[in-house]
Order: sequence, then structure tokens, then C-alpha cells
Amino acid sequence: MKRALSGLVSGITLLVVGCSSSTIDTPPVAPQALQFADSHFHPSNYAYQGVSLKSLLSDYLSASVVRSVVMPLPLQQRWDSFENYQVTDTSGRLYGANYYIGPKADLYYYAFADAMYAREYLQLSAADQGRLDLMITGFNPMDRYGAQHIKRVLLTFPGAFAGIGEFTVHKELVSRKIAGETIRSTATVPLPPDLDKKGTMSLYAQSLADVLKVAEETGLVVTLHNDLYQTEVNYEGTVEDVFPGRTYEAALKHLCSTAPKASVIWAHTGLGRYVKPTSSHLKTVARILDSCPAWVVDISWDLVQENIIHPGPGMPPVNEWIGFFNQYSSRVLWGSDTVMFSKNTLELPDKVVPGQRLTVEQYLALPELLRPLFSRLRPDVAEKISYGNYVRLFDDARRKVRAWEASHAQDDVWDLSGPSAAVR
Ligand SMILES: [Zn+2]
Repeated sequence: MKRALSGLVSGITLLVVGCSSSTIDTPPVAPQALQFADSHFHPSNYAYQGVSLKSLLSDYLSASVVRSVVMPLPLQQRWDSFENYQVTDTSGRLYGANYYIGPKADLYYYAFADAMYAREYLQLSAADQGRLDLMITGFNPMDRYGAQHIKRVLLTFPGAFAGIGEFTVHKELVSRKIAGETIRSTATVPLPPDLDKKGTMSLYAQSLADVLKVAEETGLVVTLHNDLYQTEVNYEGTVEDVFPGRTYEAALKHLCSTAPKASVIWAHTGLGRYVKPTSSHLKTVARILDSCPAWVVDISWDLVQENIIHPGPGMPPVNEWIGFFNQYSSRVLWGSDTVMFSKNTLELPDKVVPGQRLTVEQYLALPELLRPLFSRLRPDVAEKISYGNYVRLFDDARRKVRAWEASHAQDDVWDLSGPSAAVR
């Protein structure tokens, strides 16, 4: 759920290093032969600056990326007029804060996103709808009413949605910036074992089990962001503490045990801007996948991909990733983690450069980052990760969700506490 665009696309070398010996003895697949489906894509930013679905289809999806999820970011960055985070561009338009790193003002859940995107999606032709998989994001995953929101969205906009998320549980400074009380301040039962410094989020929350149970019942695919290692980062993006020894492995396994058949995409294998792979990273990810048979991972976000193809000291070498991809070939999805509108940059206290929409060229450069790695995989493995696994997962979800909508068409959205509601 995040990428700072500036400089990333142009600055990344496409060579795969550190892998002079390969475990692969089949001939490399021609890189240009691969098509991509983007399992991790945000059409707008933390201030709903972005791109229409029509423009996304006509301009950005191409012979290279042929299908994509549409995940509005669930969190809006609050524009606080008392905080110096606004800018007037050369044409006189005023902008507020539009990214989570920088401003002190909190983030809040923006439920209107679901209605906004559903309306636009349902106006597309059937062929165009078939190229986009729309996700429900406008709910608070720490709120037990979240599950009802998801059902209300399906019943209000049948035919529109295929999944839930990306939503975030433990994620460096995002967890700390989310508006609302801490679990410590409201709990009347024993505290869960996975609270971070501020303590607003927990993988043991019943509300998350509710969401996964709704996913199990309806067939919606879930995209979950949860860092694998505890990391404390303040609002400015300064890392305060990194705990590579403190993993959320047990908490993630607990969550999947609450709804074992829910189809979940665990984003970035638990990595991120501040959360780097440890030498045992892939072994931990493998244990989680082994415990959670309905879970898959995505390898989205260029910052994460950079650590795969150019591993730093103590990170798993490329060959270990290749071995992991071969072993879990049906359980890995490519994604870009694009945010379509970049952040305003505060260069000086009185100088802010407004963000911009990502260009088509910048977007289409993203699948190229891993193409050299894909050429080192068995052709069938490369095809599954770049495209095939996505199609299997989301086509299956569409069928199940449409069937659920048809069988619940008479449910009363004003009374979801009755027998039709899965969560009570
Ligand atoms: Zn994302």
C-alpha cells in the first residue's frame, strides 16, 4: 500500500546479480513472451488523486499488463489546516497532504471509496469489467462492524466486487497513524500478544476473524498487509526500532486458523520499505504457507523486488528465492503495488512540490523489473507467477461471489444482524 515513485523506476538496474549458478536447467523463457496480471494496484493515493477506470483500461493496461485488481487505499490522509503540509502549484491549485509519511495528522478509513469505484465499474462494458477485479476497502479491520460493511457493499452493488483489501494490520508507521483509541485504552479482557508501540492493531482481533469468515462464505479474495517483523517508525519515516527476531508468524497462523478456507493474498511476503528480509525469511514464509493452505503471497512493490534481485548482506540470495518460487509455484503472484499519484514532496518548510499522476511509461516499466528473474524460472513457473495464479484465484472468486450475491439478493441491508449474516 505504498510506493514513492520518484526515482524508483529509473534507478533500478535490471540485471540479476549474485546467481552465477542456477538450480534451473531448462532454457530461459523469452522475457517478452510473458503477460502480467497485476495483483496489487492502487488507482489513487491517500487523498483520492488518481486515474479513472476508463483511463486505466485504455491507457495503462496493454499487451504487457492485461488484467489488474483495483484496490482503493482504505485510508485517507487527513488534511489539517494547522499543519504546514499544503501547496499551491503554478496554476494556483491548492493541494493538501497526500501521503502517509511526513504529516503528523492521522489517517482515517474512507468508506465512500467502495461506492465511488463500484459506480464507475458497473458503467463499464462486460469486456472491460472482465479485465479489472474490484476490491472492497472502505472499512476498519479493527471494527466488528467491518464484516457487515462488506456484505452491505456486495448487496448494494452486486456484480462489482471480487475481493477485500488491501487492508493493513501491522505496518510500520501506518499502524501508529491510524485514528482511534488504542487497544490498551479500551480492553476489558487480557491484551493480545502482538501489540506494537502504539497498540491500535492486532491479528488476534475478532473483527479480522469476522472479515475472513465473510471471505470464506462469499468467496471474496482477501489482500492482507502485515509486516513479518516488528518495526517501529515515526511519522516522519524515521526508524526507531527494528526487531528482526520478533516475527508475527504465530499471530498470522492464528488468524488463518480462524477461517482456514478464506483465500488470502499476504502482501509482499511481509516485507516493505523498512522491513527487510532476514536470512531465514523464506523459511518462515514457507512455514506460514504450509500452515495456511488457502494463503498465497504477492511479490509486489519495487522496493521489495529490489531486495529480491539485489539482496543486501544477510538477505536470502537470488537462488534461494528461485527455489522458493519453484516449490510454491502455485502460491506466488506478481504485483506492482503502484499508487497512481505520487506524493507532494516537502523540500523546505515553505517549498512543497505537488505530486503527479504516474505516466503510462512509468507504469509499464514496473513488470520489467522482475522480467530477468522470470527468465531464470521454469517457463510454467514464470507464467503462473506473472499471470496464471492470478487468473485462477480471481476467476474462482468471481464465480463464487456472483453465486453468493444471487442467493442473497433478498437479504435486507438494513438488518444484517439476522440469520443471513455470517457474523453475530
Ligand atoms: Zn499496497
